[in-house]
Amino acid sequence: MPTSQRFPTSQVVRLNEQLFLVDCGEGTQIQLRKFGFKMGKINHIFISHLHGDHIYGLPGLISSLALYGKKGELHIYAHSDLQQMMDGMMKFMNELTDLKVKYHPLNFRRNAVIFEDKRIKITSFPLKHRISCCGFLFQEQPSALHLDKKALERYEIPVSQRQNIKNGADFILANGTVVPNSEITLPSNPPKSYAFCTDTIFLKEIIPVIEDVDLLYHEATFAGDLAELAKKTFHSTSLQAAELAKLANVKKLLVGHFSSRYKSVTALVDESRTIFPETYAANDGDSFVL
Ligand SMILES: [Zn+2]
Ligand SMILES: [Zn+2]
Repeated sequence: MPTSQRFPTSQVVRLNEQLFLVDCGEGTQIQLRKFGFKMGKINHIFISHLHGDHIYGLPGLISSLALYGKKGELHIYAHSDLQQMMDGMMKFMNELTDLKVKYHPLNFRRNAVIFEDKRIKITSFPLKHRISCCGFLFQEQPSALHLDKKALERYEIPVSQRQNIKNGADFILANGTVVPNSEITLPSNPPKSYAFCTDTIFLKEIIPVIEDVDLLYHEATFAGDLAELAKKTFHSTSLQAAELAKLANVKKLLVGHFSSRYKSVTALVDESRTIFPETYAANDGDSFVL
């Protein structure tokens, strides 16, 4: 449930100018505006599951996008039942004429690449909750190698050759000598990755998917003493989130989806840190740079 301090789940993953919205709880469009995101730049929305705290912001957001005159396609990746829920509401809106909402059904049985372009790959993977639920893995695509400036001068490499070399080509001197690529380039930046896991019980099966990510968001609805309640409601505790982060060797853990019973979540974060020190609370409006 929302509190006076916390809205239901929604996150923005930004890569350069691309904005990807993950879940869309009630009030998401208000928060987007408050935190300075250009809503019109959202073209892809990923919905983990159909519980209200993850989708009730969708009708309002889509309605506003249509009113602002957004054109083209808005892609929504979700359980196939979402379209039926949304169509019922949307048929009363005339404003959608220039905005085409395209629904892409998720696979809740196995991992699947659901979006890929030159910069990013997004994979869905099954979680275990009361209803069908998916997590999402965002992986930056490997970037080109860096050119070694000293080598560029030493071998007088022309501009026309540089892109090929960045992509891994060797350089051939006028006398036919081959200069191997490794002598004229420096390693590229390691691709960054982010995994989003909510709502779910503690699930070891996802470790191969989330292993080594730069940032893991994992729900921690309850503190460790409510492990029984977590199990019964198909949620996780702050200790379980930390345990999973440790087993998966991630670099940083964000915990969130806190029960409204916790006015302050400091104790939950402190508890996580006893197992995984690099734990932070996903407070509304926080941003994390990878
Ligand atoms: Zn749920
Ligand atoms: Zn939830």
